[in-house]
Amino acid sequence: MKAVTISIIIVLVIFTVILVLSRDFSESKGIWIEAESFNTLGGWVIDQQSMGQMGSPYIMAHGMGVPVKDATTRFEIPYSGKWTVWVRTRDWTAVWGRGDSGGTFKINIDGKDLDETLGTNGASWDWQKADVIRMKKGDAAISLCDLTGFNGRCDAIFMTTDQDFIPPNQPDKLAGFRKKESGVECIDDTVVYDLAIAGGGIAGICTAISAIAHGLKVVLIQDRSVLGGANSSEIRVSLGGNIHTDPYPNLGNVVEKIAPVYGYTGTLPSEYYEDKRKELAFRYFHKDCYKLVLNERVIEAEKDSNDPKKITAYIGKNVITGKETRYKARLFADCTGDAVIALYMGAEVMYGTESRSDFNEVLAPEKASNQVMGHSVIWYSGKDTIKREFPEVTWGLEFDEDKVYYIRKGDWEWETGQFRNMVEEIEYIRDYGMMAIYANWSYLKNYSTRKDEWANDTLSWVSPIGGKRESYRVVGDHILTYNDIMDNVPYPDGTASITWDTDIHYPDPENANKFKEAFRSAAYHRGNGHPYPIPYRCLYPKDIKNLFVVGRHISVTHTAFASVRVMRTLGMLGEVVGMAAKICKDESAYPRDVYVHYLDRLKEMMKKGVPIPESYHAYGTDTFETYHFKELGLIKVSPTPDKKLTDPELNKRIEEMGAPHKMKK
Ligand SMILES: Cc1cc2nc3c(=O)[nH]c(=O)nc-3n(C[C@H](O)[C@H](O)[C@H](O)COP(=O)(O)OP(=O)(O)OC[C@H]3O[C@@H](n4cnc5c(N)ncnc54)[C@H](O)[C@@H]3O)c2cc1C
Repeated sequence: MKAVTISIIIVLVIFTVILVLSRDFSESKGIWIEAESFNTLGGWVIDQQSMGQMGSPYIMAHGMGVPVKDATTRFEIPYSGKWTVWVRTRDWTAVWGRGDSGGTFKINIDGKDLDETLGTNGASWDWQKADVIRMKKGDAAISLCDLTGFNGRCDAIFMTTDQDFIPPNQPDKLAGFRKKESGVECIDDTVVYDLAIAGGGIAGICTAISAIAHGLKVVLIQDRSVLGGANSSEIRVSLGGNIHTDPYPNLGNVVEKIAPVYGYTGTLPSEYYEDKRKELAFRYFHKDCYKLVLNERVIEAEKDSNDPKKITAYIGKNVITGKETRYKARLFADCTGDAVIALYMGAEVMYGTESRSDFNEVLAPEKASNQVMGHSVIWYSGKDTIKREFPEVTWGLEFDEDKVYYIRKGDWEWETGQFRNMVEEIEYIRDYGMMAIYANWSYLKNYSTRKDEWANDTLSWVSPIGGKRESYRVVGDHILTYNDIMDNVPYPDGTASITWDTDIHYPDPENANKFKEAFRSAAYHRGNGHPYPIPYRCLYPKDIKNLFVVGRHISVTHTAFASVRVMRTLGMLGEVVGMAAKICKDESAYPRDVYVHYLDRLKEMMKKGVPIPESYHAYGTDTFETYHFKELGLIKVSPTPDKKLTDPELNKRIEEMGAPHKMKK
């Protein structure tokens, strides 16, 4: 072989080696499966609350100590080979540095259990190697097999034949990798809506229905499979506060329509929360008037390139399929409870407890702090006729006779996260509440001196996501204070009235002394003495042009929030915002303009209330006369004869029916 040829071959080999070594492994084409998109979730549940923090919805084996049914799906293996199977997971109980991993699971592919026990990889979300296995080209089945029933969790699975490749975990790189591997693109909804609403709690539903009833084209985007927020069967909080109160006794029509029939406080079985009633209330209106999008989270608000203080679209991400959709609108509402949209837009927000000097509120402490009212994982148990076991929980808090709570349910007082960030730390906050339930219950069932009394008791329900009380609050043109409420300060733009007392939650001192971090609360109540109308100026951010805010994150101080926060009140505020949106549409105006220029019109609308179509009541006690042929519709004979009656064929048909009308007489 000539020297030149040999040189060329050497150069080519070196080039190929360099090419392979310099390959960007984040480009690796493997098999990507999102856990939440499995065909069957079995007993696993979707959690979307921490998408912004850990990068995705994930699924959780919520079995309250009993291993749940497998989640299963099928996938395509593009070629035969030796595949490394990676699983993004975490050991959620590792945070407390005690005992074994609480929530563990295994992967099974086509009947073969993979080696590694998953959910044992430390406290943070990261990739854990499940195994390296040979797989043949073609279709295969994969299952997530829960081992404990204690909330093991899985974000995604990635398989690769590149043995050296580790999928990225750093947030930006992971987001890019996820997008590429899952091949998700953003598609445009073709409609331009009058009003796009993020968040389908009571505030969001009432805003939507009010706007639809006033003729607006509305999209409501809710990140759970059900509507209702804290009043859904997933969280189980009853509606509080009054409707139909002064000064606008017709506010409350929508709240009344969507409210569960039985709403007494206390935790009840799921059907009492009537999730479907809230959805069916939309059916009063023609389907072309609105779009109700469930299981989709608004992950971005797009800004107007000419005016960054204006929103042009919401980007929704489906929490099951991962598909992204752009919803364009002229007006937007943030009903997320967490001020998610206001935060995306850089609006000014408040968090925690203001100091006394900030607003001169007598109930405010001397010093400001990040203290908020906490998050509650509501739970209850039942009694069986036979003895029921519960696993010995070796992780999390350690209980003893001094610390244990001899209780059979936890309600509002099972409260965590009072000194934490309700958005950034929600996974921890919920987990802490849940861990405390399991650890206390395990002590009662397995170790307590009174364990015989608990022998037949079993956990019946533990909310998988829990409910938030307080989070960010958005600064509007007016910040409502406790003094406004107490002194009954009249404002021209007063709307729906507060009727709940000032109800402030604190960590229960006894619990806080026993544990490093409290998981139970105590409340202080002070009656306000009168209904108090919330000013319209609390319902939009002072610094974003086309955004309304409705819900627990409106413009109020922490102390005023204590009585604003109940759902009937927030629902009525939604009704008001639906009316304001109608004015904005008619006048090509923005939320602030309604206060500045169109307040009288808003007042007129509030006086009337939201017109809710009556249920179908056919016929009445009139003296009308009609014939009804299905394909021709109703043909009036009297009082005004239908033009169709000039048709001899029709008259013959009527004649043959043998039912003579009055004109015939
Ligand atoms: C344990 C507990 C007990 C309480 N007791 C009472 C009581 O007895 N009576 C009473 O009236 N009130 C009570 N409250 C207060 C009340 O429940 C809340 O203030 C109320 O639920 C707030 O309503 P909302 O619609 O603003 O928010 P939420 O009910 O929190 O609803 C907001 C919805 O928006 C969704 N969402 C959030 N972000 C996004 C996004 N980016 N995209 C799409 N959707 C999103 C959420 O999943 C949620 O479903 C209690 C609260 C708790 C936690």
